[in-house]
Amino acid sequence: MINPLLFGAAAGAGVSASSAAESARASSAAGGAKRDVAHLEDRLERLSLVCMAMWSLIQDKTKLTEDDLMERVKMIDLMDGVEDGKATRNVQKCHACNRTMSARHRKCLYCGAEKLAQSAFDTI
Ligand SMILES: [Zn+2]
Repeated sequence: MINPLLFGAAAGAGVSASSAAESARASSAAGGAKRDVAHLEDRLERLSLVCMAMWSLIQDKTKLTEDDLMERVKMIDLMDGVEDGKATRNVQKCHACNRTMSARHRKCLYCGAEKLAQSAFDTI
């Protein structure tokens, strides 16, 4: 015989434990996302610093001006046909299976072939 009070209490406890576990998973995922964002912000700051240092060196060693740089930024921005302030990478086909490769992965998601670097920026 099932005691409805006990069954109800157990079911209620199960839902509560499940909600608590789900809340803990969501909290952990949010913490991981915060760490990822902090890591990316740190990398962005370091990359910005290196870019500024390189540009400073280039200006010291050449006759290039800020206008030259801005013109080149616009030219590279427009290489994908859209002036959006972003350098979009070209879609790359896998040299082994000829499927489209993910820009975020170093290997083909279909056959596992290594992505061939077409420029120094493909190695980043
Ligand atoms: Zn492939």
